[in-house]
Amino acid sequence: MINRPDTSKGPSASVSTQRRRKVSVLGATGSIGASTLDLIARSPDKFEVISLTAGSNAGKLAELAVRHNAKCAAIADPARYDELKRLLEGTGIEVTAGQEAVCDAARIPADWIMAAIVGAAGLRPTFAAIEQGKCLALANKECLVSAGEVFMAAVKDARVSLLPADSEHSAIFQALDSSPSHCLEGITITASGGPFRTWDAASLEHVTPKEALKHPNWSMGAKITIDSATLMNKGLEIIEAYHLFPVGLEQLHVVVHPQSIIHSLVHYCDGSVLAQMGMPDMRTPIAYCLAWPERMSAPTARLNLASLGSLTFEEPDEVRFPALRIAREALIAGGNAPIVLNAANEIAVNAFLSEKIGFMSIPKVVEATLEAAVSDIGKLTATTLNEILSIDQAARTLAGQFCMRYVA
Ligand code: NDP
Repeated sequence: MINRPDTSKGPSASVSTQRRRKVSVLGATGSIGASTLDLIARSPDKFEVISLTAGSNAGKLAELAVRHNAKCAAIADPARYDELKRLLEGTGIEVTAGQEAVCDAARIPADWIMAAIVGAAGLRPTFAAIEQGKCLALANKECLVSAGEVFMAAVKDARVSLLPADSEHSAIFQALDSSPSHCLEGITITASGGPFRTWDAASLEHVTPKEALKHPNWSMGAKITIDSATLMNKGLEIIEAYHLFPVGLEQLHVVVHPQSIIHSLVHYCDGSVLAQMGMPDMRTPIAYCLAWPERMSAPTARLNLASLGSLTFEEPDEVRFPALRIAREALIAGGNAPIVLNAANEIAVNAFLSEKIGFMSIPKVVEATLEAAVSDIGKLTATTLNEILSIDQAARTLAGQFCMRYVA
């Protein structure tokens, strides 16, 4: 866990020094990838792009690789190799394909790597990035949910500077001062409440993917947008915070804050509460990761409290949004339960997006998979990445079967 911002092992060449920092972006074609590359492109004198990776979008990866003058472009889907190779012909950019190629791209020496592949697909490449032993900006929260202890142990062994890119965890990281951990009373993670915060239970049954993909405050990839709508995102973030920071589960609280201005708060034993605020734009926490332990300018809208007028807060409703409770229970159950939680949620979200199951069936599939997994695949606790991936796979099969039961 991160006790407090450890700046002792900062960037090998900080943003204010001469040498350009070598940076790689895993998940370059996604929403976090776009925000990261936008910041990098604004400081060509400070950053040099090494590897960019994607899942299957060869056209976008090729365009980004050329625009950012990358050394290597790796695509996970081997069927896209020919297309990528053709698009990058004559550029001198190395082209590779396949899951292992994405891991190899993550291992190419770089000073800073953004881990922004969505879902458990990011596990192997992010572990490969850890082997670098330098700065890892972590957006891929599923890594910490599925592999918590194993991931943090690998980070510690490799002496990697782990920087949370998730806005809430970046806020906590920034609000942690140098007090010893026993002075830390708790952490409050804020949640926007998603697009259906005020909807009644009956209406939630009829939510369509199109409605769920419209987040009120943040522009993000499809999977995390659905997780925000079900509040599973907040459940995953509790597990993420549990592994990152020196607090127990009972010290982690969630409050709904629809304006998404306060990104999270840290409570100290003297009654002080430190919060980090800003407009909802991922370029702020990403800029913090890119410049750490310094800061850099980000082209985001500036906070004007008077024009906002008021900030509001409310308790999360775990009856209409059971995902938060389910995630907390999975963390308490421990063992393989968080792996199963994450895998089942990915399957259920995909099934909802392809209109096979309804919105309220997402938490039902996850809960049913967790219950079944206790007797089926939950017995032994996975202690290696391979074991985690095999539990993940078994949970996906199980969750797929439960999706069939809830076919809309
Ligand atoms: P997107 O869906 O926008 O992007 C996902 C990226 O992962 C794309 O580059 C995609 O490639 C790539 N990818 C998908 N499948 C694979 C695979 N099998 N192997 C390799 N690469 C793959 O997601 P986001 O950018 O929104 O989110 C990325 C991560 O960051 C998630 O874990 C999310 O929870 C986290 N996060 C996101 C935030 C946000 O604001 N978006 C905020 C905080 C955390 P392709 O385009 O080719 O499919």
